[in-house]
Amino acid sequence: MRVALISDVHANLVALEAVLADADERGVETIWNLGDTVGYGPDPNGVVARLVEAGAVSVLGNHDAAATGAIGTEWFNSLAAEAAEWTRAHLEPETVGYFAGLGEVVREGEWSLAHGTLRQPLWEYLMTEEAAEGHFELQETPYSAVGHTHVPLLVRRGTEGVEGKTPVPGEAVALGEGLVCVNPGSVGQPRDGDPRSSYALVNTEARTVAHHRVPYDIGETQRRMEEAGLPRALAERLGYGR
Ligand code: ZN
Repeated sequence: MRVALISDVHANLVALEAVLADADERGVETIWNLGDTVGYGPDPNGVVARLVEAGAVSVLGNHDAAATGAIGTEWFNSLAAEAAEWTRAHLEPETVGYFAGLGEVVREGEWSLAHGTLRQPLWEYLMTEEAAEGHFELQETPYSAVGHTHVPLLVRRGTEGVEGKTPVPGEAVALGEGLVCVNPGSVGQPRDGDPRSSYALVNTEARTVAHHRVPYDIGETQRRMEEAGLPRALAERLGYGR
């Protein structure tokens, strides 16, 4: 089965449509969404409706939980908190209900899915060796996928310990032996200096993963954010991929 791993869509419907079109061309059958589906961007209800229509499997992210009021925004920086308040005020009841039905960790075959890490699904960033060790300690499947950092990454725990690699876009990598964790990067707000949307394509039978970058109409998303009255700095950062 060909699976599109997506994460951190952040209510950027223009970016999501571009990624889904790219995934469709590559023969993707299923979508696994690693959370932070809303927050920051202008189209929270549209993004959720589109993912429901596509039959995506989703986990809950910290921004999703904040948008429904399930958690507070005291741990967010001021711009993120402002966007979270905006999102909360604009969510339709169906969207709130959608998030209420999501789990923090979901298992799909040989894969475990979470937003941050398996240790702290909503909050922890898998960015250090210590966080990776803690995550792999709880990983009961050979493979896992997380988001949250907005930076694509491939982490492996073999006999030599934990090793992280920045994936090369378009290059299929064999998942191989040992425990592996894939971060597909962010669809709606990339932060690795490349403003194009990022996602990953998994082939569950061949046991390979390939990361991909997809250009989208950033100006259109920025225009919608301005119209919505969302903070200007959040619109600007999309242009830099930071
Ligand atoms: Zn995020």
